[in-house]
Amino acid sequence: MERGAAVGGLKSEADRRRHPNDLHPRKHRMNIKDVLEKKSSPSTSRITTTTTATILLANGVDGKPGNIKEKSNNNSNSAILGESDTDSEESDISGSDGDDSSWISWYCNLRGNEFFCEVDDDYIQDDFNLCGLSSQVPYYDYALDLMLDVAYGEMLTEEQNELVESAAETLYGLIHARYILTSKGMAAMLEKYKNIDFGRCPRVYCCGQPCLPIGQSDIPRSSTVKVYCPRCEDIYYPRSKYHGNIDGAFFGTTFPHLFLMTYPHLKPQTTTQNYVPRVFGFKIHKN
Ligand SMILES: [Zn+2]
Repeated sequence: MERGAAVGGLKSEADRRRHPNDLHPRKHRMNIKDVLEKKSSPSTSRITTTTTATILLANGVDGKPGNIKEKSNNNSNSAILGESDTDSEESDISGSDGDDSSWISWYCNLRGNEFFCEVDDDYIQDDFNLCGLSSQVPYYDYALDLMLDVAYGEMLTEEQNELVESAAETLYGLIHARYILTSKGMAAMLEKYKNIDFGRCPRVYCCGQPCLPIGQSDIPRSSTVKVYCPRCEDIYYPRSKYHGNIDGAFFGTTFPHLFLMTYPHLKPQTTTQNYVPRVFGFKIHKN
C-alpha cells in the first residue's frame, strides 16, 4: 500500500512525524479496563467495537485484517528504535508537552500541520460522522484507536506501526474535511483565520488579505492543499514548503465558500484594482 497515503510519495518525512504513542506506551495510556471504566457511560457503539478489537488482538484471536498481525514479535527492537525516533521528533513539536498531549493535538502541532484544527473527540466517536471512511482507509480500526489514544496492544512491529500511523493521518484528514463543515468545526477554523494561521494573499492589491485553506478536489491524493483569497477569489500555493505535503482533500472544495456564507461579515469587498504593466511609464499597447 502507499506509504504516507497523502499526496503520492510526498510524506518522505513521515519518520520524524511518529507519535510517541506509536511504539511504546505512554504514562497515561489506557488499558482495556481503563477504557471500559472511563468510557462505559453514554457514548456510542464505537467504544464497544474498539474495545472488542483490542481484546481480540491482545488474545491473538483472528478477526482483524490479516497481514497486520502476521508478525507480532520483535517488540524490543521496535522499542529501541522508538527511543531514537522520539528524540529526533521532539524538536518538531512546537507545543511544550508533546508526550502528554493527545494524538490529535500532537498531530495538529507538528510543523506543516498548522492548517488543521483539532477535531472534537465526540465528533470522531460518533459512528455516523465516519460513515464510508472505513473503506477508504487501511487498518481503519487501528488508525482510529491510535487517533483516540486507545491502546491497541503492544505487539505491532515498527513497520506495522508506520502503516497504522500513516493510516491515522489519512483518516484524520478525511474526518477533518467533514468536521470543518460543521458549526463547531467552522468556529474552530474561525479562530485560526483570525490568527492568520492560513497565511495572507501574496497579491499586492489584496493588501495582505488573510486566506483560507482549500482543496481542488474532494478525492484524496488528487492535489495538495491551496489557499483561497476571499478578496481576489483566486487560489495560491501556500507559502510554507511543509504545506506542499498536505492533501487538499483534507480541507475539501467547499470549506472556504461555506465559511464565508456562514460568516458573511468576513467577506471582503472584491478588489477592483489591477496591476497595469508599463514601459518607461507608458502603458503597453495591446495588439
Ligand atoms: Zn487575493
